[in-house]
Amino acid sequence: MYGNFQKYLQDELASIREAGLYKNERLIEGPQQAAISVGGKTVLNFCANNYLGLSNNPRLIQAAKDAMDRRGYGMSSVRFICGCQDLHKQLEAAISEYFHTEDTILYAACFDANGGVFEPLLTKDDAIISDALNHASIIDGVRLCKAVRYRYANADMEDLERQLQAAQAQRFRIVVTDGVFSMDGNVAPMDKICELAEKYDALVMVDESHSAGVVGATGHGVSEFYNTYGRVDIYTGTLGKAFGGAVGGFTTGRKEIIDMLRQRSRPYLFSNSIPPSVVGAAIETFNILRESNALHDKLVENVNYFRDKMLEAGFDIKPTQSAICAVMLYDAPLSQRFAAALQEEGIYVTGFFYPVVPQGQARIRVQISAAHEREHLDKCIAAFIKVGKELGVLK
Ligand SMILES: *Cc1c(COP(=O)(O)O)cnc(C)c1O
Repeated sequence: MYGNFQKYLQDELASIREAGLYKNERLIEGPQQAAISVGGKTVLNFCANNYLGLSNNPRLIQAAKDAMDRRGYGMSSVRFICGCQDLHKQLEAAISEYFHTEDTILYAACFDANGGVFEPLLTKDDAIISDALNHASIIDGVRLCKAVRYRYANADMEDLERQLQAAQAQRFRIVVTDGVFSMDGNVAPMDKICELAEKYDALVMVDESHSAGVVGATGHGVSEFYNTYGRVDIYTGTLGKAFGGAVGGFTTGRKEIIDMLRQRSRPYLFSNSIPPSVVGAAIETFNILRESNALHDKLVENVNYFRDKMLEAGFDIKPTQSAICAVMLYDAPLSQRFAAALQEEGIYVTGFFYPVVPQGQARIRVQISAAHEREHLDKCIAAFIKVGKELGVLK
């Protein structure tokens, strides 16, 4: 049997390669941080989700070791059988405190949080109204639920209003959005989303994966940014980006919603509990963020510095509100040549083109981190200018 199937896979893989869409993995020989070793060469990393620079933080490493010493290596169980330690509850409480919510439920990943949030709460009588640029895990979560689906154009409030009007036919409605959209770096207009949701009697859910730790005066996410505390019913998020970058996800929000997820959410009920080392380090992450806002302040300073210098140099940058700076090149082959030339200059970034972004909207996505020092930013900007001139992007 495998012969025919093998031939089919080989052909499919060849067509992925021919389309230039084959994903190769580059090996990093060392921890995740600003300067990384790739193929024996040191490059500056500008494509990690390591927004607060915590991925290789000594306090988190120590906290992970301490938790492993005190609570062991693995849980060998889901939460409700025998997979819940005191540490898990402490982490859930720390996340609730951070987001000003009533309760929190942990998952192995935010992919699971989003995969397991809709189906337990909504039925075929209800409606999910989803931003067109929402993350793949939200799209999959929606697919697993029988609710009627509506989609609105990215952050387009007129379209959202039309969809909300159409969704009056259903019993309950929920508007779902990413907090920060990962290709442009724009923040979802939560204030307007909440207003419309109130006008049309809908719940509100936001995925804070790229916004938590980043947006808002002290980095607490979209509700701090727009002062929408109390008006958002469900937040999902990841421990795999700003919050240390290991692994783990969560849903946080209203008490009864979280309670229902604990009873019925399939990725929670049927998948293993996160290990003590990760939980212990995540608790320490929230201790660090409670003690001081220094990391977030540095991130904001770095983003502003990078953006201003790049605009000054003449680059076309999407008006970012986050730690994502999209340097627009428009042309797909150019974006690939540009990224390759930057790597030669010791700058590790990724060029994105269709179908990841719309046709004719190719770009290089730069992700700024609190781990970057001024000299790293200057080196990156200088490399962009050099390559920009060589490739005729800058005059
Ligand atoms: C990264 C990301 C996820 C997935 O998070 P994991 O914890 O890595 O599964 C989900 N939603 C959004 C918006 C993301 O950016």
